[in-house]
Amino acid sequence: MPYRTIIEPFRIHSVEAIDFPDLPQRQAALDRAGYNLFGLHADEVIIDLLTDSGTGAMSSEQWAGMMRGDESYAGSRSFYRFEAAIQKITGYSEIIPTHQGRAAERILFAAIVSAGDVVPNNTHFDTTRANVEYQDAEARDLVIAEGRDPSVLHPFKGNMDIDALEATIAEVGVDRIPFVMVTVTNNSGGGQPVSMENLRAVRAVCDRHDLPLILDACRFAENAWFINQREPGYEDVSPLEIAQEMFSLAHGCTMSAKKDGLANIGGFVAMNNPEVAQQCRNLLILTEGFPTYGGLAGYDLEAIAQGLEEVLHPEYLRYRIRSTAYLADKVHAAGVPVMRPPGGHAVYLDAKGLLPHIPAHAYPAQALAVELYRNGGVRGVEIGTVMFGKPVADGPDEPAPMELVRLAIPRRTYTQSHIDYVAEVVIDVAAEAESIGGYRIVEQPPWLRHFTARFEPI
Ligand SMILES: *Cc1c(COP(=O)(O)O)cnc(C)c1O
Repeated sequence: MPYRTIIEPFRIHSVEAIDFPDLPQRQAALDRAGYNLFGLHADEVIIDLLTDSGTGAMSSEQWAGMMRGDESYAGSRSFYRFEAAIQKITGYSEIIPTHQGRAAERILFAAIVSAGDVVPNNTHFDTTRANVEYQDAEARDLVIAEGRDPSVLHPFKGNMDIDALEATIAEVGVDRIPFVMVTVTNNSGGGQPVSMENLRAVRAVCDRHDLPLILDACRFAENAWFINQREPGYEDVSPLEIAQEMFSLAHGCTMSAKKDGLANIGGFVAMNNPEVAQQCRNLLILTEGFPTYGGLAGYDLEAIAQGLEEVLHPEYLRYRIRSTAYLADKVHAAGVPVMRPPGGHAVYLDAKGLLPHIPAHAYPAQALAVELYRNGGVRGVEIGTVMFGKPVADGPDEPAPMELVRLAIPRRTYTQSHIDYVAEVVIDVAAEAESIGGYRIVEQPPWLRHFTARFEPI
């Protein structure tokens, strides 16, 4: 097309009203929730960027698929459509549905991870790490150094550090490594992509040591688009063909269909190894359901099968990745510090850069997230010392490496004017940065405190 404006590649068929709580209502909600945005009710939020997981809009074809859902307990037609859709993209023969990504992780890891093992990954997502540790194994993050610096520009900040992987294998020994995992895109590292060259290099190391390679494939389509846009030799290769090549370099995958499945719930584990698949199915029957539905309704299987087809359309991916970059570029141009280059599914504001007067133990990213909500009803999430710092008895917390506020963009849900509004709120709040104060925690549970801790302004 000759025109530069990238339009939403859909028109709106059904709408959901937004609530507009006013400032006193937002302040009352903050007081009730103890300044923890996880405690807000959805009708107290104007624009909800808490997560991109399961929060996207489904297409009319997905809803039509849901009407076709076959709820047969065994051998549902919808399962065979789901299986065929995944086989087409991954090439794997064994397809096992689960109710979401973490169930796929728990089942695969219960089958093949043993106590004392070490699992290398570019960066484990939090549920992936927790499920590795639940097997009394160690989850080790080996992303390249550029991936740990918010301001360094690099096209593939999600890449695995190949030397560090070799060093880990030499140190631990192949017997204690059940598999190597690569997360595409690297969610916990800012939604940054992994290059095909890096995947190939990881696979070569795995082959040398006879280790399986498993993809955490939640955002495989967004990763494929970054490869198409940034990796030499892939500019004329379709997202589907790129995805097929990515999966061909691995032996299996875990997946949350709440991300690039474009569905509200679901997941799967897939592989070529029939023996491991049999072990997984045995566990599946114990905790999720029969192997042709695995904790999902037949209509969910339909929605995912159709979503996996739509997510690889180039018009969708161009719009998706560009709309995330649009918000990041807009606030960056106004001088707000932000992680760069922008990743696929979220914009990360750098609260340490914006609020240098607030020390880590007074939670600068929490303070920024609260201010975005108080001023504009925009809900993001703190990714800093509240989430990853360590409480110390009688002293300030051990700080997290970065103090970020993540604004995750739900798929096909908000329009450009919603995003313009978010940018305006961010820029407005940033202009008053010196007047923003820190917080102290008044109540916290022993683990995963970010979900339920209560705060008060200092
Ligand atoms: C969301 C996610 C998971 C877990 O999936 P759920 O469906 O939330 O259980 C695992 N890995 C990555 C990279 C994710 O983004």
